[in-house]
Amino acid sequence: MATIRGPRSLLRQIREALAGGGPPQARLDMVVRIIARSMVAEVCSIYLRRGSGELELFATEGLDPNAVHVTRLKAGEGLVGEIARAGRPLTLSDAPNHPSFSYRPETGEDPFHSFLGAPLLRGGRAIGVLVVQNRTERVYGEEEVEDLQIIAMVLAEMVAAGDLLAEAELRDVEIAPHKPERLKGAKFAEGLAYGIAVMHEAPVVAEQLLSDDAAAEEIKLDVAINALRMQIDAMLEGQHGLVGPTFEVLESYRGLANSRSWTKSLVEAVRSGLTAEAAVERVRSQHRASIGQARDPYLRERLHDLEDLNDRLLRHLSGEAHAARVLPDNAILIARNLGPADLLEYDRTKLKGLLLEEGSTASHAAIVARALDIPCVGRLTGLRDRLSEGDPVIVDAETGEAWLRPRPDVIAALDARLAVRNQRKAEFAKLRDTPAFTKDGTKVTLLMNAGLAVDLDILGETGAEGIGLFRTEFQFMVAEELPRLEAQTQLYERVLEAANGLPVTFRTLDLGGDKLLPYMEMDREDNPALGWRAVRMGLDRPALLRLQLRALIWASKGRALRIMFPLIASIDELRAARALVDQELAWARKRGRPAPSRLDVGAMIEAPSLLWHLDALLPMTDFVSVGTNDLMQYLFAADRGNPRTADRYDPLSPPALRALKTIQEACADTGTPVSVCGEMAGRPLEAFTLVALGFDRLSMPPAGIGPVKQMVLSCDRGAAQKGVAALLKSTSGSVRNEIETLARKLYVAV
Ligand code: PEP
Ligand code: MG
Repeated sequence: MATIRGPRSLLRQIREALAGGGPPQARLDMVVRIIARSMVAEVCSIYLRRGSGELELFATEGLDPNAVHVTRLKAGEGLVGEIARAGRPLTLSDAPNHPSFSYRPETGEDPFHSFLGAPLLRGGRAIGVLVVQNRTERVYGEEEVEDLQIIAMVLAEMVAAGDLLAEAELRDVEIAPHKPERLKGAKFAEGLAYGIAVMHEAPVVAEQLLSDDAAAEEIKLDVAINALRMQIDAMLEGQHGLVGPTFEVLESYRGLANSRSWTKSLVEAVRSGLTAEAAVERVRSQHRASIGQARDPYLRERLHDLEDLNDRLLRHLSGEAHAARVLPDNAILIARNLGPADLLEYDRTKLKGLLLEEGSTASHAAIVARALDIPCVGRLTGLRDRLSEGDPVIVDAETGEAWLRPRPDVIAALDARLAVRNQRKAEFAKLRDTPAFTKDGTKVTLLMNAGLAVDLDILGETGAEGIGLFRTEFQFMVAEELPRLEAQTQLYERVLEAANGLPVTFRTLDLGGDKLLPYMEMDREDNPALGWRAVRMGLDRPALLRLQLRALIWASKGRALRIMFPLIASIDELRAARALVDQELAWARKRGRPAPSRLDVGAMIEAPSLLWHLDALLPMTDFVSVGTNDLMQYLFAADRGNPRTADRYDPLSPPALRALKTIQEACADTGTPVSVCGEMAGRPLEAFTLVALGFDRLSMPPAGIGPVKQMVLSCDRGAAQKGVAALLKSTSGSVRNEIETLARKLYVAV
């Protein structure tokens, strides 16, 4: 095979030939003929992927024409299937002897030995395969492989643009995934939403693939790469004082942007006749194909960095580097994962939902999504590969699923569920100013859990009587670096002002476990939930805890202040923590800062050890709050963050309820105010049980307040108490069903 004159002249010939018009099949036939002639190949064939996933022979020069639209290969079948699966070119000098070779007599390909195939890649997915074959056993050169790849890339765009196929066929060729699909993930933020997929930082699409002036394209590329490098340098410079993993990540990112191999591949692609934008797309496809299927987390992370780098470069090339995103009215944001501030940059009124490929309930994006009341489902494997920008999608954060391109019946069912949800929301809103008394006259105080300043915006809307749990670590988790004294003071002040006299219980930093800070060095632990977390960290690093206590005292400015310590496991820890509060009070006094008008110091009951030391604990505290999320995790020895264990044991079970009852009784005996602030306080059936056990202060996520209030208003506490007391003696592992029956019998809205 003679060396071809480069893909540019070949692509020109194709363009000129196609300019003449004609029916689609004739155009496709012409394309393979031109490629075969130009590459001095005896065979040139194009296979395209059908909606069924099969690769079908669409046109050939050199094989039996009767095989066209007859020969079909399943995904991964034969050499052609292998190329599509791997997304990589394949060259063989003796194809029929390759173990993957799949012989199809109808094609008449027996005499052809050498084989070169390249995938038609679009967005990293193979939509087809382009093959050339020769009779002689020969090895195709590196340049020929490169050239065929470029031709394949241009063909992929032509196919997608509809230039080469009849309309009916276009519908059944899988250019982008188009079938309805359902992906199972994990719910990160409650709710339901239906809308249009918007890719976070949508890649800019290269409009022109072939350049007329390679030298000019090379200059353009050079300018953009320099601008990109400067941008990354500036990003790094803005991170003074940053140590640990974040810095390393940014440094390695910079290394990537400066790497010679990356620039070399880009320049080579431009020299071969592509525009600078098309060159980026081509290099991106190569990366995706070579490491996209890697399981190794390090490699996958690298791929993400490379993707990001390519996207950034495309934006520089198109001059869109700083343009703001315009969202459709019902946008569902799609991302691999989001950084701390990313979500806040989108127009809140248009953002209806969020789907993530990765993340965890404790991830930044999930925390912010909950704070903003945006339904969010995460851990959706393969999400971005299965979706195109503009696809309709459903976020079902009730079941933890995403529906891609849902069928009309699925949309109709969702509409019905949304209507019910909205109707219930309207009912709850009507109850906002109604105090929560049970039918037999017990007042139940409903409080809200919060963690960010934005949470306070909805305090009034919920009708909550205060913040029962303010998770101060959220500020640390969404920050780029350790918040300083002023930043902490400012936040606490804002919270107290927004609460406008309603009580706020600030919980001191509860970091560690699953809540890690990217900017803080922490050793990897074998059992993080049992490890160096919460108050343990604060006591070992008193400077950190004292700084926070100082910020709280300063922010109180003579108002009442409530401070609560997380994960107290031994009463000595509470003693030590209280001593730090006293030291900070004295320090503030010495500096003439106004002391809080009243200071209440409390402990969270999360470690089961405290259950057998309540007699010592309660006299030492002004109040306690039961963190049932952790208490249940430790009672049942079941990791709350692990999907395999998180829902394995039921809090509505005799051991859990007896533990809660023990706490409630001890508090009642000593007159210690007690609340429950774990997630269970926000679920009507669980809250019903808590009220029946005698608890009358519940703190919960904002969305729980309406339903729980409705439950309280419909509940006869005396009757509930009697019913649940009997169930405490049950020999069943769970009494959920029995409690549900009881609630229904008593006409309680659960
Ligand atoms: C709990 O453990 O129940 C709790 C309220 O704290 P967190 O969920 O923040 O650990
Ligand atoms: Mg906890």
